[in-house]
Amino acid sequence: MALVNEHFLKLPNNYFFSDVEKKVNSFKVTHPKADLIRLGTGDVILPLPQACIEAMHRAVDEMGHESTFRGYGPEAGYPFLINAIIKHDYNPRGVHLEPSEIFVSDGSKSDTGNIGDILRHDNSIGVTDPIYPVYIDSNVSCGRAGELLADGKWSNVVYMPCLPENDFIPQLPKQRVDIIYLCYPNNPTGTVLSKAELRKWVNYALENDTLLIFDGAYEAYIQHPDIPHSIYEIKGAKKVAIEFRSFSKTAGFTGVRCGYTVIPKELTGGTLAGKRIPLTPLWRRHQETKFNGTSYITQRGAEAIYTPEGKEQVKAHIQYYMNNAQLMKRALTSIGLKTAGGEDAPYLWVKAPDGLSSWKFFEKLLYEAQVVTTPGVGFGPNGEGYLRLTAFGKKERIQEAMQRLCQCL
Ligand SMILES: *Cc1c(COP(=O)(O)O)cnc(C)c1O
Repeated sequence: MALVNEHFLKLPNNYFFSDVEKKVNSFKVTHPKADLIRLGTGDVILPLPQACIEAMHRAVDEMGHESTFRGYGPEAGYPFLINAIIKHDYNPRGVHLEPSEIFVSDGSKSDTGNIGDILRHDNSIGVTDPIYPVYIDSNVSCGRAGELLADGKWSNVVYMPCLPENDFIPQLPKQRVDIIYLCYPNNPTGTVLSKAELRKWVNYALENDTLLIFDGAYEAYIQHPDIPHSIYEIKGAKKVAIEFRSFSKTAGFTGVRCGYTVIPKELTGGTLAGKRIPLTPLWRRHQETKFNGTSYITQRGAEAIYTPEGKEQVKAHIQYYMNNAQLMKRALTSIGLKTAGGEDAPYLWVKAPDGLSSWKFFEKLLYEAQVVTTPGVGFGPNGEGYLRLTAFGKKERIQEAMQRLCQCL
């Protein structure tokens, strides 16, 4: 008998989003005519930018001719895309990277989930709470998170609460932690870290020999000019941080699949014998072993984001969603709800009124306003009492949803 990896059996969070769907479905059965508005999904709705479509059409045509056909490409991505990333995402911010430090992939979920493969199973990990569930689940499934405790926390995970008391900005952990996950702009709270706040984390990592896993999936949503877009804008960060970026939320690539990971050559990890090993070649070996590259067509589509037309079109998409976020924040605030986020991210983190639990508030909005949200408790114990609302919707529908909320609260 083949024995299974029993760590997978520990993953209760797997059921969270299906619980949401179950509740929505039972509502639909009893209210078949209801006009539901979904402010729950973390998926974009606008179609791909025209520049990307045209580039991908051209790439498809190339694939149809013997002289321009492409088979396997480089595992870490084509130089045309890697060079565009360096030139447009990093150089303007004073960050200089070499092509060998960039790894193009099929998105950040796989990269943030797989990065643990090159790290020992008994490292200690630290996460903000609430948190994007992939970081925890990928550590649970290899045994690194330990056991689930009665309070909903994992025994080997250090939690850094993000609460109104600290403006949802996590405090440095009191003890030393080997690996810390940071996601900014944040999913689910929609908050950002200032340069001074991010510097604290880089300095902590330098002092404590900690690896920072920095997820910048929502970088393109930053509106305030002084908020850092990359962790490498902070001095010393190349020694301590891996950065993940995705074209999913930036350019509507959730269904196309493309992202990239940056591992600077200065970044090292230790062996049990105390040697320091650079992580860049380790991740290269990982990708060469388990990944055969992102499709050529997709990479041509991603490259087009960096053309003048592509940049304009992406900017218009982001602006559309951020206008939604603004009108949501205004409406919710006007009826006395407390919200975080929504200024540099497409998410609003909404405190339930009257001490309601996440699920109770979720059900109230589902039944009384026919609006679907996401219960905050699904993102960690400190998400209890909150809902996450997303700005990924048609403006008219979001306006309608806000009117309904204002009437029922
Ligand atoms: C959506 C999202 C991503 C992007 O995932 P892809 O696999 O690139 O689509 C990464 N991190 C966070 C926190 C996200 O919300």
